[in-house]
Amino acid sequence: MAEPHAVVVGGGVGGLAAALALHRIGWAVTVCERAPAVDPVDVGLTLAPNALRALDTLDVGRDVRKGSVFQGLVSIRHRDGRWIVRTSEADARQRFGDAVCVLRYAELAGILLGRLPAGAVRTATRVTAVNPGDTRRPAQVVTDAGELTADLVVVADGARSTIRPELFLEHPGAVYAGFTCWRAIAPWSADVVPEFGETWGQGGVAGVLPLSGGEVYCYATVNSPAGAFAADEKAELVRHLEGWPAPLPELVAAARPESVVRMDIWHIDTPLPAYHKGRVALLGDAAHAMTPNLGQGACQAVEDAVVLAHHVSGSMAYVPTALQSYTDARLPRTSGMVQRSAQLAEAVQSESPFLTGVRDTLAGVVGRLAPHLLAHYIRPVSDWHPPVDA
Ligand SMILES: Cc1cc2nc3c(=O)[nH]c(=O)nc-3n(C[C@H](O)[C@H](O)[C@H](O)COP(=O)(O)OP(=O)(O)OC[C@H]3O[C@@H](n4cnc5c(N)ncnc54)[C@H](O)[C@@H]3O)c2cc1C
Repeated sequence: MAEPHAVVVGGGVGGLAAALALHRIGWAVTVCERAPAVDPVDVGLTLAPNALRALDTLDVGRDVRKGSVFQGLVSIRHRDGRWIVRTSEADARQRFGDAVCVLRYAELAGILLGRLPAGAVRTATRVTAVNPGDTRRPAQVVTDAGELTADLVVVADGARSTIRPELFLEHPGAVYAGFTCWRAIAPWSADVVPEFGETWGQGGVAGVLPLSGGEVYCYATVNSPAGAFAADEKAELVRHLEGWPAPLPELVAAARPESVVRMDIWHIDTPLPAYHKGRVALLGDAAHAMTPNLGQGACQAVEDAVVLAHHVSGSMAYVPTALQSYTDARLPRTSGMVQRSAQLAEAVQSESPFLTGVRDTLAGVVGRLAPHLLAHYIRPVSDWHPPVDA
C-alpha cells in the first residue's frame, strides 16, 4: 500500500514540526513554502518545558538544548529600575518545574528542516486554495506551481493565513492587538553582565535575554497603529528606549542594524469553531495566533504537531474523524492560552498611571509574599506532557 501523503502549507516552525512528526510515523510529506527559501528572520525565541518535551518526542530536543541558553530567573523591573518580581534561578526551577531555553528562531527551524527527507520542502510555492475533501475523497491543494492531492493537509500559514478564511467563512479572523514589537540581537561582553528579564513601563515592556555565542536577544513593545513602520527601525528603537534602565539602551545601540526587526502583533481573539475541516488540520498561528506575552506561540505550534501526528496514525479513510480528536485535544488548551496572553498584554500595554501602579504593586506583592500564585499561573502552561505513545 502506498504511504499516506500530507501536504503542509507553510514552512515556519509549526509547519516544519508537523512535517517532521508525520514523517516519523511513516507519512510522505510535502511542505509548500511561499518564500524563496526557508530562511526565517534571525530573532530570539524562548521555549518553555512543554515545548522541549514535544521536541523530545520528535527526537530533536537534545540538538535544540545544545544551541540554547537556559534562563530560569523570573525578574521583572519597573521602568524606574525598582524590582517588581525577582526570583533566583534555583527558586524558579523549583517553583515552575524547569527553566525556559532561549535560542534563535532560525536555529530551531534549521534543526527541524535538517531532519526532513531531501525534497520534502518546496520553496517559492504559494498555496492559493485548498479543497478539504472528506472520508471518501482526498483533499486537493492548489499552488502556483500546480495541484497536489493529499490524504491530509496541514494549514500552518501563520496568523494572517489566507487559507483559514476560505475554510471558516463566518469567522472574523485575526485582529490587530494594538501594539508592535521590536526584536534585536546584540553583542555583550562578560565585563558588563546584563541583568536578564523584563522591564514594565507605561504602554509597553522591554526585555533582554541571553543567547549562545556572546549575544543577547532584546525586545520592546509599544502601542501603535497597525503598519506604522519606520525607514530606520534601529534608530526608532534606540529613540524609544531613551530613559529606560541600563543596559537596554546600550545593548540596543550596539545591535547590528539588520538584526532589528519590527512585527505588528495580531491574534485570533475569537476562537475558531474547530481546528479542522474535512481532511484539513489548522496548526500554530493559523489556528490560534496569540500575543507574545506568554512566550507560547511557537511552543503551542510544536505541541500541535505532536498531537496531530498522534491522532492521524490510524486508517486514511478516518482522517476526518481523527481530526475531530485533534480539535478536541487542542482547541480548549490553546484558546485558553490566547485569552491569558491577551489579558497579560492588556496589563503590560496599559498607559494609565493608576492602572500600571496597581498592576506593579499587585505583581510585587505576589512575587514577594505569595510566589506560589505565580507558580499556579505558570504551571498549567508549562506542565503539558505529550500523549503517551507519541
Ligand atoms: C514579537 C514576537 C515574539 C515572540 N516570542 C515568542 C517566544 O518567545 N516563544 C514562543 O513560543 N513564541 C513566540 N512568538 C510566537 C511565534 O513566533 C509564533 O507563534 C510562531 O512563529 C508560529 O509559527 P507558525 O509556523 O505557525 O507560523 P509562521 O512562523 O508565521 O510561519 C508561517 C509560514 O507560512 C508561510 N506561508 C504563508 N502563507 C503561505 C501560502 N499561502 N503558501 C505557502 N506558504 C505560506 C510563511 O512564509 C511562513 O514561512 C513570538 C511572536 C512575536 C511576533
